[in-house]
Amino acid sequence: MLMARKIKGCTGHTELVSQASIFGGIMYDLNDIVEMKKPHACVVKQTGKKANAWEVIRLGADIKIKCSNCGHIVMMSRQDFNKKIKKVLVKASENN
Ligand SMILES: [Zn+2]
Repeated sequence: MLMARKIKGCTGHTELVSQASIFGGIMYDLNDIVEMKKPHACVVKQTGKKANAWEVIRLGADIKIKCSNCGHIVMMSRQDFNKKIKKVLVKASENN
């Protein structure tokens, strides 16, 4: 009985954790700002450099990211995203 209760108690926690993804040490979550291996083609006016800060706006089988500079949205499979992500710049959940 104790075992059964413990497993049941963990189910909710597991569902929460599965929102985040771990791949090659990179853990990302919804609303995180991430840097990709290839920057976006648009240029940040303030720095004159190509923009490379993307906000994760959808996290499912497909992932949608939005360029923080021009607002351009790119959708790709999670598999593709895992290959293309370089690092997480800002964790959205840090303020929670
Ligand atoms: Zn852009």
